[in-house]
Amino acid sequence: MSDGRDGDRAAWLDGSGAECPAETEVDHPWRLILLGAPGVGKGTQADLLHSRLGACHLSTGDVFRTAATRTDCALSPAMQQALEYMRRGELVPDTTVWEMVRERRSCLRCRGGFILDGFPRTLRQAESLKQLLLDESLTLNAVVNYELPLQEIVERLSGRRTCEQCKAVFHVTRQPSRTEGLCDRCGGRLFQREDDRSESVTVRMTAYEKSTAPLIRFYQDLGLLLPIPASGSPEEILARTLLELEKRRAWNHQVAS
Ligand code: AMP
Repeated sequence: MSDGRDGDRAAWLDGSGAECPAETEVDHPWRLILLGAPGVGKGTQADLLHSRLGACHLSTGDVFRTAATRTDCALSPAMQQALEYMRRGELVPDTTVWEMVRERRSCLRCRGGFILDGFPRTLRQAESLKQLLLDESLTLNAVVNYELPLQEIVERLSGRRTCEQCKAVFHVTRQPSRTEGLCDRCGGRLFQREDDRSESVTVRMTAYEKSTAPLIRFYQDLGLLLPIPASGSPEEILARTLLELEKRRAWNHQVAS
C-alpha cells in the first residue's frame, strides 16, 4: 500500500523477507493494471484507487527508488545495474524486472487485490505476468489506460515533486504542497526525481512509445482494456475510472449469470 503508514508495502518494496501487515480480505478484490505514458498521473490514481478499493498499489518504479536510497551496500549486482538504467531514464532489462516481480509474487496473491503501476512495460513482461496469474489461478479484472496529449505530459512531468519519505506526489502549480518543498502528509522533503529532468523525460517518452504502446493492443485483444481520458483534476479522473470499473463489474456479472 502507498499511503505512508508504517509497514505498508514493506513486502513489495523490500522483497521476499518482509511481512505484509496490511493484508485484509475484500469481498470482490480488484486486480488491475494501470497503463499510460510517464507523467499521465498513474501513481496518483493508484494511490486514490487504493484508498477507495483497498487493493495494494504495487509500483516497480518505487521498488527501484527504494533500493536506490539504501545505504547498507546490500544491493545485488543486477539491482545496481538496474539503477543505472533508471538514472538514464531507460527501461530496466526484462529479466531483472521479472526476477524482482517473481520474488514478490505473494503480493499478487494478496486477498485485498492489487493495482500494478509501471508493470508490465513490455510485451515480454505482459506475457510472463499472464502466465504467472494463470499458474496462480488469479484473474485480471481490467487494464486501465490513461490517455493524455504529449504536450500536457511534458508539463506535468517537469513540475512534479515527490516526497523523499512517503513517496506522495505533488506538482509545483497543479497540486502544490502547503509549505514549499515539504510534504503535506508527513513533512518529508520534496525532491525532483532524477528521471523527471528534461533530458531523461525525452528518453523515457521514446522508451514508452517503443516498448509500452504495443501493450495497449495486447490487452485490447484480451478484452481487458478500459481507456480513460486523463485530463482534469485527480478527483475527476478517479471518478471517471470508478465509473468505468463499476460498468465493467456489472457487465461481467451479467455475462456470468
Ligand atoms: P516509474 O516510476 O514507473 O516511471 O519507473 C521509473 C523507472 O524505473 C523507469 O524509467 C525505468 O527505468 C524503471 N522501471 C520501472 N518499472 C519498470 C518496468 N516494468 N520495466 C522496465 N523498467 C522499469
